[in-house]
Amino acid sequence: MTPQHVSPGAAATLPGHPFVAYHGAALQMEDVALSSLAAQHGTPLFVYSKAAMLSALAAYQRGFAGRDAQICYAMKANSSLGVLQVFAQAGCGFDIVSGGELDRVLAAGGQASKVIFSGVGKTRSEMRQALQAGIGCFNVESEAELNVLSEVALSMSLRAPVSIRVNPNVDPKTHPYISTGLKGNKFGVSHEDALRIYRHAGSLSGLRVVGIDCHIGSQITETEPYLDAMDRVLDLVAGIEADGTVLEHIDFGGGLGINYNSDTPPAADVLWTQLLSKLDARGFGKKKLMIEPGRSLVGNAGVCLTEVLYVKPGEQKNFCIIDAAMNDLPRPAMYQAFHAIVPLQHAAGARTQAVYDVVGPVCESGDWIGRDRTLAVQAGDQLAVLSAGAYCMSMASNYNTRGRAAELLVDGSTVHVIRERESAAEQMRHERLVP
Ligand SMILES: *Cc1c(COP(=O)(O)O)cnc(C)c1O
Repeated sequence: MTPQHVSPGAAATLPGHPFVAYHGAALQMEDVALSSLAAQHGTPLFVYSKAAMLSALAAYQRGFAGRDAQICYAMKANSSLGVLQVFAQAGCGFDIVSGGELDRVLAAGGQASKVIFSGVGKTRSEMRQALQAGIGCFNVESEAELNVLSEVALSMSLRAPVSIRVNPNVDPKTHPYISTGLKGNKFGVSHEDALRIYRHAGSLSGLRVVGIDCHIGSQITETEPYLDAMDRVLDLVAGIEADGTVLEHIDFGGGLGINYNSDTPPAADVLWTQLLSKLDARGFGKKKLMIEPGRSLVGNAGVCLTEVLYVKPGEQKNFCIIDAAMNDLPRPAMYQAFHAIVPLQHAAGARTQAVYDVVGPVCESGDWIGRDRTLAVQAGDQLAVLSAGAYCMSMASNYNTRGRAAELLVDGSTVHVIRERESAAEQMRHERLVP
C-alpha cells in the first residue's frame, strides 16, 4: 500500500473523552502526561480518570435530582477494586452477576443493602452467600429460579427480596450479542407470562416481592427503545398491582451507550428527564427507581496504553503490531467493536502515514484491535486505545499466558496504582505438576 507524507497537524479532539486531551503534542489525562505513565509503568497499561467516572455518574444524579432513586453500577463493566471504591464512596449501589462480584463489592467498601443480584444462572451457594450478606434485591430471571431461591431462603429462615426481570420485547437496535430484551434472548420472563409468575412468586413463603426490572441491551444510542420499554414495563406494573401485589421499586436496567466512533447516545440527564416525564404522566412518578448503568459510567473514563512493536508492510495490508492484544481488549474479537486509536505523542517532523490493521501478538487472526486505521507510526511509538474503561479489563484473559495489564487511577495530578501487572508465576500459582 502506498504511504503518503503528512505533517504533524493539530490534534483531533478525542471522541467522548472529556478528561483526555492533547496539550501541545502530548496526550494528557486530567493533569498527567500519559507517555510518562507508559514509561514508568510499562505497557499494556490501563489508565482511568476518576473525574470522568464521577462526571458520568453526576449526569445520572442530575437526572434523578429530587427523586427516590438508587443508581446501581453494573460492575461487570469494570470490576477492579479501585474503580468500585470510587463508586462506593460516591454512594452508588452495585448490580452484580456472581458471588465473586459480591465479594469484590464488600472488599471495596460497598454496602450489601445497596446490591442487586442479576443473572440467569445463580447457584444455590451464591444465593446463600447473598442472603447471608443481606443484599437489597435478587433480580430473578425464571420461574425455576424463584422456586430454588425460596427454598434456599427458607432453609436459612429468611425471606429473599425479589424483583422479576421482564422481557419487554423491544429492539434496542444494537449488536445482537449485546441485545438482551428480545423474545429470542435467554434473559428475563416474557411479558405474557409475567402476571402469572408474579402470582406464583407471591405464593412462595421464602420470598418477598419488592420490585420489577428489565434490561434491554447494551450500547444503546437511541431514546426510543427506552421509552418503548418503559411503556411495556409500566403496563405490567399496572396489571401486577391491580392483581394485588404492591411493587416498591421499578428497575430500568442499564444499557446507555457511549461515543466510541461518532456515536451520539443521549446524555444520561437528558434521557432521564424524558423518561421521568413519561413515568409522571403515567402516574408512577412516586415509585422508587433503580437503574443499572455499566458502560456509560466507565467506558470513556479509561484508555489502554500500548507500544508499537513492529510495523509490517504487506501486499494487501499493512500491519501495526502492538503489545496489547485480544486478551487485554477483547471487544473487537468478540463483537467487531470499534476502539479509536491515537498516538500518545504527535511526532516532531514529517512522518510517513499509511493505513494499518492494528493487531496484537496473540496467535489468532481474530486478534485485531483496529482495522484500516490511518496512522503515522514506527516501532517504539506509544498509542492509546480509547474507550477502554468498560468490558476490557473485566473481560481480560491469560490466553497465550499473557499476564493481565496493570491499572492506574488518575485523580488530578495524583496517580494511584490500582492493579499490579500480573506475572507468569502468578498465573501458574494454582497449577500443579503431576507427581
Ligand atoms: C450488563 C448489564 C447491565 C449494564 O449494561 P451496560 O450496557 O454496561 O450499561 C445492567 N443490567 C444487567 C442485568 C446487565 O446484565
